[in-house]
Amino acid sequence: MMIRFAILPLVLALNFSMCKKQQAVTDKQQPAGSAAPEAAAATAAPVVAATPKIKKPVVDQTAQVLIFCYHRLVDKIRYPGTEITPAAFEAQMKELKDKGITVISMQDLLAWKRGEKNIPPRSAVITFDDGWKSQYEVGWPIMKKYGYPFTLFIYTEGVRGGSLGGGEAITWEQLADLRDNGVDIQAHTATHQDLREGHNVTVIEPGGKRGRKKLTGADYEKWVQNEVVGCKELLEQRLGIKVNCFAVPFGNYNEHVKELARNAGYEAMFTVYGQPITFTSPMDAIGRYAIEANKPKVFGDAVSMIGASSGGGTAVAEVGAKDLTTHPADGETVRTALPLIKANLSSIGQIEPGSVQMRVSGLGLVPVNFDPKTGTVSYQVPQKLRDKTCTVIVSAKSEGKKVETHWTFGIEEAAATAGSSPATAVKK
Ligand SMILES: [Zn+2]
Repeated sequence: MMIRFAILPLVLALNFSMCKKQQAVTDKQQPAGSAAPEAAAATAAPVVAATPKIKKPVVDQTAQVLIFCYHRLVDKIRYPGTEITPAAFEAQMKELKDKGITVISMQDLLAWKRGEKNIPPRSAVITFDDGWKSQYEVGWPIMKKYGYPFTLFIYTEGVRGGSLGGGEAITWEQLADLRDNGVDIQAHTATHQDLREGHNVTVIEPGGKRGRKKLTGADYEKWVQNEVVGCKELLEQRLGIKVNCFAVPFGNYNEHVKELARNAGYEAMFTVYGQPITFTSPMDAIGRYAIEANKPKVFGDAVSMIGASSGGGTAVAEVGAKDLTTHPADGETVRTALPLIKANLSSIGQIEPGSVQMRVSGLGLVPVNFDPKTGTVSYQVPQKLRDKTCTVIVSAKSEGKKVETHWTFGIEEAAATAGSSPATAVKK
């Protein structure tokens, strides 16, 4: 499970370096003279359409994204480590616009990372952490003024009425209002603490009593489960949303926490170590720039990081999954959580065997079998898929061009949940 995050950037970097120029892939015909005998034979398979449909020509893999993280917006700064004035905040939002940096939504960023959607070459994502009411009362109107989407990372006990939610905290009603207006709401644990085992944490007893403890073993596992998984479930249930992003408090986590988060269905994990995000940035350590009054240079430095366009990129041609006779088929629902996933790439043309990659939602990059004779790529899922839907992305290179297809199939609920861990803590 952990290896995929290391492999993915490597493989993508390799692809990138092999394909230096922007190659607009147009409606490509079958490679007539150039096809090797086996590829030519494979294309004769009766079910396969002669010319694959190219739906979506380009995902710009050279785009860069800055992710900014804000906390409180107050006129009078008392805690410069977590506050900024509304005027300074608005000036920064204006600067993004003036500098031609497009503010995109978090979900668009993730769709781009999946290769499903293009984004402008210089983009930014705005996030607010910890759920302060000033984000609702002050930040939101400014964001509306600029027409910018944004994301809130909420720690659930810090919402008003929670054990850590005081008078300055955002309320569930405000969160619902934001949700109704298209604002993205994501997870930031239950109690906002260091998630690594063996660190002192403040534990809140059911009666509200607090104690400072060093949790280890089963006690720690129960606690961290609630921080990572319980928080997600509470947000999803209380707001009726899908949570797929996890911001790690202070950036303090480790492989074990990552594993828990991945298993819980988080697609992306965020730290506070700011850096421009690229197509190959690992999804379990996405850096954000924390913008605070006591670090006035961070914003300008970040903006200058993507100031110059990098030029040169890899075009991706998208092929309809129907043309590849996938199994399971796009839209199909299967009765097993252990499906054999297959696609026939022969209609694309001659495939460079080492270039075939498959990504499976919830698993990431998986080791596939590719049979150059038949053009079939296959992967037997070794452990039960947890979600009710599964998206597969297959990419390959043909004549120096990257071609990609993706499709989604369903898994019957009974098959998906049977045998899964019963240890999930549900917060009430
Ligand atoms: Zn925080």
